[in-house]
Amino acid sequence: MPTFPATVRSRLPSVGTTIFTVMSQMAEASGAINLSQGFPDFQADDALFERVSHWMRAGANQYAPMAGVPSLREAIVAKVEALYGARYDPQHEVTVVAGATQGLFTAIAAMISPGDEVIVFEPVYDSYAPSIELQGGVVVRVALRAPDYRPDWSQVASLINPRTRMIMINSPHNPTATVWQADDLRALERLLRGTDIVVVSDEVYEHIVFDGRRHESVARYPGLAERSFVVSSFGKTYHVTGWKVGHVLAPAALMAEFRKVHQFNVFTVATPLQLALADYMSDPSRYLQLPDFYQSKRDQFVSLMQASRFELLPSAGTYFQLASYRRISDSPDTEFVRYLTQEAGVAAIPVSAFFADGRDDRVIRFCFAKNAETLATAAGRLAVL
Ligand code: PMP
Ligand code: GLN
Repeated sequence: MPTFPATVRSRLPSVGTTIFTVMSQMAEASGAINLSQGFPDFQADDALFERVSHWMRAGANQYAPMAGVPSLREAIVAKVEALYGARYDPQHEVTVVAGATQGLFTAIAAMISPGDEVIVFEPVYDSYAPSIELQGGVVVRVALRAPDYRPDWSQVASLINPRTRMIMINSPHNPTATVWQADDLRALERLLRGTDIVVVSDEVYEHIVFDGRRHESVARYPGLAERSFVVSSFGKTYHVTGWKVGHVLAPAALMAEFRKVHQFNVFTVATPLQLALADYMSDPSRYLQLPDFYQSKRDQFVSLMQASRFELLPSAGTYFQLASYRRISDSPDTEFVRYLTQEAGVAAIPVSAFFADGRDDRVIRFCFAKNAETLATAAGRLAVL
């Protein structure tokens, strides 16, 4: 089909297709085991599907209220209060969104004007920078460096200036699988005191932290909570990434701005899914057992991978495991994952995809949110390399 105009003026000239789509397509085309894009290969609980079906049959199939169905908003704020001790108002301080990606995008669109600077930590989840740039914002990157990927708070302090409008954080962190400690949150709280900088805290892996660690939500820190959008996703917590339902918490004044955008780019999210999630959340064990559930998958994968020449980095949270392949190959990570997918039959994510300059530490990311048999077969293929 001919196009008009012949050359389309791009708002994102240097952006291609997201690495998660690229790798999942490659995995499918080669029949490889897909440990690249983060999603479970096992089924969610039947009781959750029963609730969706119940609400559909009960006629809950028309638009939900713009901010989300009341029962779900109430269930979210009750959970957040029980876990993190912060009381959000279900009327004015929580909004149900179509996945965390949309929550992040909407928070950025509501806050960022052309020329505003946004600090992010790199390696950085791939949606952040394009979302900022679409608003005319300027991305300012703080380096997290292999192998421990710790934030350097003095570097963050040196980057803050009157143009700094927002700082985006993500713990547990994708792709490094690191988890911030109370000291990190306190350092950030101190740094932002007396500024009007807004925080966007991506906490989609809030329930997936290992080895007895505690998730440090910004909601626990009053000096951060007062300036933060807290973004989470039901997809990770209940094994339904394809449902694309999440939530955003923020103090009323920030949330009012958020909803001005939300009402026109999404308006509202699938009604029966919201009602079902509200019912399902009423049993806290459904999210409280998640650390043990995923920790045993991590341990299984780590133990199987001891037979390989991959060197595994620590995984303190998320359902990801980083691995250095220096003992196997010196090819760039994008070439190595192509080889791994097409020749070895296991797809992974090249970590260079999370760096603006393509920085390549010869490290790749595996997703272990998979059945025991899938992990065993994949590790068997990786062990012979
Ligand atoms: N942020 C991070 C750090 C993620 O890993 C993901 C999904 N893997 C998202 C946001 C997006 O979540 P959702 O699928 O709910 O849009
Ligand atoms: N966030 C998931 C990951 O890191 C993928 C989500 C997506 O494909 N956009 O793999």
